[in-house]
Amino acid sequence: MSASPSNSELSPESTSLLGTVLAVQANFYQVQLDFAEGQASDDPKNFSDREQSYHPKSQIPNAKLLCTRRTRLKKIGQRVMVGDRVVVEEPDWEGGRGAIAEVLPRKTHLDRPPVANAEQILLVFALADPPLDPYQLTRFLVKAESTELDIRLCMNKSDLVSDEELEEWRSHLKDWGYEPIFISVQTLEGLEELSTQLKGTITILAGPSGVGKSSLLNQLIPDVNVRVGEVSGKLSRGRHTTRHVELFELPDGGLLADTPGFNQPDLDCTPEELTQYFPEARRRLETGTCQFSDCLHRDEPNCAVQGDWERYDYYLDLLEEAIAYQMQLNQQADPESTLKAKTKGKGQTQYEPRLESKKYRRRSRRTQQQELEELYQDADL
Ligand code: GDP
Ligand code: ZN
Repeated sequence: MSASPSNSELSPESTSLLGTVLAVQANFYQVQLDFAEGQASDDPKNFSDREQSYHPKSQIPNAKLLCTRRTRLKKIGQRVMVGDRVVVEEPDWEGGRGAIAEVLPRKTHLDRPPVANAEQILLVFALADPPLDPYQLTRFLVKAESTELDIRLCMNKSDLVSDEELEEWRSHLKDWGYEPIFISVQTLEGLEELSTQLKGTITILAGPSGVGKSSLLNQLIPDVNVRVGEVSGKLSRGRHTTRHVELFELPDGGLLADTPGFNQPDLDCTPEELTQYFPEARRRLETGTCQFSDCLHRDEPNCAVQGDWERYDYYLDLLEEAIAYQMQLNQQADPESTLKAKTKGKGQTQYEPRLESKKYRRRSRRTQQQELEELYQDADL
């Protein structure tokens, strides 16, 4: 059975399977098949005798196929991302090939890193070695908040600090609005608790280098073989260093995305958004209101957000960057364009007519242009 796109238009007897894209390389997609959700493929009658002789039913659920993308998907510009749920047709069990015929609607969608259907970010930091820098942690947290995914904060190397120091951090982070899990990859402390948080979901692994992300991956997935102590792991090599993402399968179910490109977050949010990325500010706006609707919470009178919360100075600092970003957006605004992108819910994007008077646009044209370029690169057009 051929998996080549040229003769791959739908045929009535073709077999449909459902799977998850684990890796994307050039025009090939590695798809992990699953037979959940009552797929017809659960039924051995759907396989020819020949297929069954190669893959008894009991082995099929673990099958991984290297897939191409149907010509029809290319024509409609349908991108296939890591994490995508896809319909695979014409499995060639012998050759380990297949063809992606359809991409199911995404629950979430991140562009940087490019991952579909992720539900949470596992942000890893170290309590020591390198020393924990609260400002750097704040930048990562703000970036993580901007994805609108759930944030799991994980503080590693607990073996290197005293109980008092650990509790001090716990209390600071609680004030910030986070309840981290403290672990040590070295002593295995907390790893079981962490594993339960990663089950059955797609998680994006992020954090600065040196905090133990590779060590953690190796510990969670014994045969993954990611090199410890490298600048950003083996996945960072190659041309698309910041975009290459691969999903690793956790032994208990669940997928973990290692994302070299997420290591140095740049702040590309507007002042309005920034406020929402600080739980402390969010809380204050839930219970109070600023006098001015466009309050930046800097030095305006009767502001509900200003106050003596611990990270307020960090907010002010990042506000300067957000204002600069806003100005850059305004400068780049193209009055001839009739579309603007609107972020909806969990990172989904919807295009609608642009209102020129809208003060804060959600995403820049620069970003959209980059996304288009990436799309073309991925499609190899
Ligand atoms: P990455 O850059 O985030 O991938 O960090 P690595 O996994 O390469 O780890 C950086 C260094 O920290 C290595 O020397 C690890 O052995 C060490 N390391 C990782 N986890 C722990 C831990 O829990 N405790 C201690 N003491 N060292 C750790
Ligand atoms: Zn205010």
